[in-house]
Amino acid sequence: MTQPAVEAEIAILGAGIVGAACAWHLARRGRRVVLIDRAMPTAGTSGACDGYVSISSKKPGLVMAMAAESKRLYPEVVADIGRDVDYRTCGGLLLVEDPVTLDQLEERAAGVRSYGFDMHHLDRAAMLALEPNLSPALHGAFRCPGEAIVSPYLMALGQVARAVDRGAATLWEAEPTGFEMAGDRILSVDTSRGRVRAEQFVFAAGVWSGDLGRMLGLDLPVIPRRGELVVTARTPGIATHYLMSANYLLAKADPDAALRSSDPLVRIGHGFCLEVNALGQCIIGSTRAFVGYDRRTTPEGVAAIVREAVRRLPALARVPMLRSFAGLRPYVPDKLPIVGRSGRIPNLLVATGHEGDGICLSVVTGDIIADLATGRAPRLDVAALTPDRFPPLDATVAAKSARAA
Ligand SMILES: Cc1cc2nc3c(=O)[nH]c(=O)nc-3n(C[C@H](O)[C@H](O)[C@H](O)COP(=O)(O)OP(=O)(O)OC[C@H]3O[C@@H](n4cnc5c(N)ncnc54)[C@H](O)[C@@H]3O)c2cc1C
Repeated sequence: MTQPAVEAEIAILGAGIVGAACAWHLARRGRRVVLIDRAMPTAGTSGACDGYVSISSKKPGLVMAMAAESKRLYPEVVADIGRDVDYRTCGGLLLVEDPVTLDQLEERAAGVRSYGFDMHHLDRAAMLALEPNLSPALHGAFRCPGEAIVSPYLMALGQVARAVDRGAATLWEAEPTGFEMAGDRILSVDTSRGRVRAEQFVFAAGVWSGDLGRMLGLDLPVIPRRGELVVTARTPGIATHYLMSANYLLAKADPDAALRSSDPLVRIGHGFCLEVNALGQCIIGSTRAFVGYDRRTTPEGVAAIVREAVRRLPALARVPMLRSFAGLRPYVPDKLPIVGRSGRIPNLLVATGHEGDGICLSVVTGDIIADLATGRAPRLDVAALTPDRFPPLDATVAAKSARAA
């Protein structure tokens, strides 16, 4: 019998921001954790994205409730990390570009307020008083002063480091190759760096979660949805809030719009958003497209991002663009993350599929997973997020990867 390289109470597979948050929460509760990544922390989407800790960009309901809980938890986690992760409560502005959308945005604001956060309408003059570089052609904005931004990779790395301080083990460049099972329970995972034995396992592999699921006959339908971003030279003060337009919400919520529309912006899933990072650079987004695992940016996407940003923030026309990059949002067709314990493999927990919200939702997801792993009732009812909502894969698919003990 192969000797395990590592033994732990809980093995987490995937060290993006979601796996890192699970590790932080579990280690803080005194659990012996091993965090495994087939590459290294932030090699995936958490190293190629923006960092809005936004409530107003979520649809009212469970996901907005999770965002509100995450926002409440964030300062405590940031304080515990004890190193700078560029977390700042800058407030968010949802721009009104067409007065027809006012009612819809007011409804969104009412949703945010129902979770205990302020969100109110600003007319054009009030918006320009707060953000004088915005275009006077805009019709105003909705302001959510409690929203924040963070550096996604510093936040993920900080949680990993803090979990390690509390005794967590790590295994990088460890590709899982198979699972040793006893009945319906996982005993251990074999990796390219040895066997890891644990009492419970957490799958948190972002857009690659489906690969892990397939090894056990589980369908975890996480599809990569590429998003492109542009980074400018330093221009501190060009905006103090993070900015987002209503068409961003549309592009996020309605993937089929890209197929139906003849508008080139809708076809590439464009939605304007902008944050000024701690260096004073603007990170401007974004697009949404299903192009498999292709992480290249496109001339069409970058041109649209820059042009549409200058339209809303004309002062950007004089700011040099430094670079562009793209990341893969973990999209689930029913538009809900997958968070919960598997009914089919009872010592498996799944934490994935957060699409464009994983930076914000990671903290509450880690808290929920830690509660489930330690037998406590989670702070929110996440039954709707269960991995069991997808039927199992054909048994022959599983048999190829998992070996009976
Ligand atoms: C352009 C863009 C902008 C975004 N902006 C925001 C935002 O402002 N706010 C927000 O909340 N969210 C945002 N998101 C979404 C957010 O980035 C993601 O939801 C989040 O990063 C997903 O984190 P994760 O830990 O699930 O996945 P990842 O960060 O991809 O981590 C998965 C990890 O698993 C590892 N892995 C893969 N396969 C295996 C395996 N078989 N075994 C072990 N490890 C494996 C990978 O190497 C990787 O390190 C944005 C995304 C994009 C693309």
